[in-house]
Amino acid sequence: MADVVSPNGHPTPVPTVQPEVKPFWDGTAEGKLLLPKCTGCESLIWFPRPFCPACGSLDVEWIEASGQGTIYSYTVNRRGAGDLPEYKDPVPYVLAYVELAEGPRIMTNIVDCDVESVRIGQAVSLVFHDTGQGTALPRFRPA
Ligand SMILES: [Zn+2]
Repeated sequence: MADVVSPNGHPTPVPTVQPEVKPFWDGTAEGKLLLPKCTGCESLIWFPRPFCPACGSLDVEWIEASGQGTIYSYTVNRRGAGDLPEYKDPVPYVLAYVELAEGPRIMTNIVDCDVESVRIGQAVSLVFHDTGQGTALPRFRPA
């Protein structure tokens, strides 16, 4: 379980919660990163969805990830994004793929760090930024 904290200036767009992945978003509000796992072939599934893309099974359970991972790749974005109001102001932020200890790679942000200090292979741990709408966004900070 990870901390659910105020976003501290980071944009936190509220996700659209589809019914089939509601367990995922409910978990975020409790500080849990839940991953779908196929009970047929045991694949871990990312992004969350109610079927297995590896074998087609509809038998999927939810497991809690440890919240530990490493940075697989990243970029520092120094420009705003005009089509996303939350990201309009050009404050540098890190967009990254984090490889979870369990295997899946998820697109996320690296927070609570000097953006110049981020490195591929760096150990990171999970933190959730509260959207204030019953969900939270999984992000990572240096471990
Ligand atoms: Zn499967």
